[in-house]
Amino acid sequence: SPVIEINKLNVIYAAGTPMERQALSEISLLVSKGEFRAIIGPQGSGKSTLLQVMAGLITGEGTVKIAGLDLSAKKNRVQLWRQVGVVFQYPEKQLFEDTVWNDVAYGPQNLGLKQDEVKSRVQMALDKVKLEEEYFHISPFKLSGGQQRRVAIAGILAMEPKILLLDEPTAGLDPQGRQQLMGMFSSLCKKEKVTVVLVTHDMEEVANRADRVTVLQRGKLIMEGTPREVFCRG
Ligand code: ADP
Ligand code: ADP
Repeated sequence: SPVIEINKLNVIYAAGTPMERQALSEISLLVSKGEFRAIIGPQGSGKSTLLQVMAGLITGEGTVKIAGLDLSAKKNRVQLWRQVGVVFQYPEKQLFEDTVWNDVAYGPQNLGLKQDEVKSRVQMALDKVKLEEEYFHISPFKLSGGQQRRVAIAGILAMEPKILLLDEPTAGLDPQGRQQLMGMFSSLCKKEKVTVVLVTHDMEEVANRADRVTVLQRGKLIMEGTPREVFCRG
């Protein structure tokens, strides 16, 4: 059965005010376990809104079920946050600890895991994002932008989410850094059966990696299929 099930979702911002704006209209989609789904569309098409609904951060009209949890209930949204990792745009803005290691360890420590387990998770996460050991015990604020991004992402991977929601995770990185991260996300899917939903406005970035692509335009789902189906129809 699908990990993500959305049926006739409508999201309206500032409802009932002169600024009212329908960000999503009648969106229905299914994402299966271990799938790499890309959501593409121009700026303002509703991609971030859709991702935030999947993360249980905003609610709309219609049904949204993630990992079997109906997100219309608050208690289910809280439950969901244990299984979902969300990487917002520019996640490095949320770094705050004194060292790279401590920043990545923060989440697992809060789960109350044993020190050994925390240690192995941090090591594994930093390894996945390919951050070299020489940086582990320095301040994250001394790193380059690209390195800070990788530390922030490692902090989310260390939580071992079953579902990973990514909003333009490679924005502002150099081509090599982008390739590396995209390859890592796709191997999380293929090797560890993590379900990945990635929002981007860059078709090229996902053409070779996504299993399926959902295209949004002005809040509507206008196309869905394999990259080949979607990109060849133009
Ligand atoms: P995308 O991620 O594709 O750029 P968004 O989901 O951010 O699209 O935005 C979809 C639409 O909703 C846009 O018209 C945007 O201006 C509007 N919008 C997004 N967030 C808010 C908000 N918090 N309040 C009001 N309108 C919003
Ligand atoms: P990345 O390669 O991580 O995407 P940049 O393109 O911003 O990051 O940085 C280019 C190179 O310079 C990187 O290989 C990085 O290791 C190095 N670098 C940048 N800033 C620092 C720093 N503060 N300390 C050590 N190395 C740095």
